[in-house]
Amino acid sequence: MPIYEYRCRGCGHDFEKYVHGPASKVACPTCQSGDITRKLSVFGLRSDGGVMTAPTTGGGGCCGGGGCGCH
Ligand SMILES: [Zn+2]
Repeated sequence: MPIYEYRCRGCGHDFEKYVHGPASKVACPTCQSGDITRKLSVFGLRSDGGVMTAPTTGGGGCCGGGGCGCH
């Protein structure tokens, strides 16, 4: 779940918030204003667009450790 940094344009307060998506409704925790700007994503999105996934079967590498029981 990504966390975003926001700045309230009403009072200038900077804050961070976990959101479920870019369309999530976020309000300033200080003045409750909805007039905010999103600054950046701290993590959750990789700059290279890659996704860290565990190796799955089918690549021929599952027997490398001898732990998969297929031989
Ligand atoms: Zn505010």
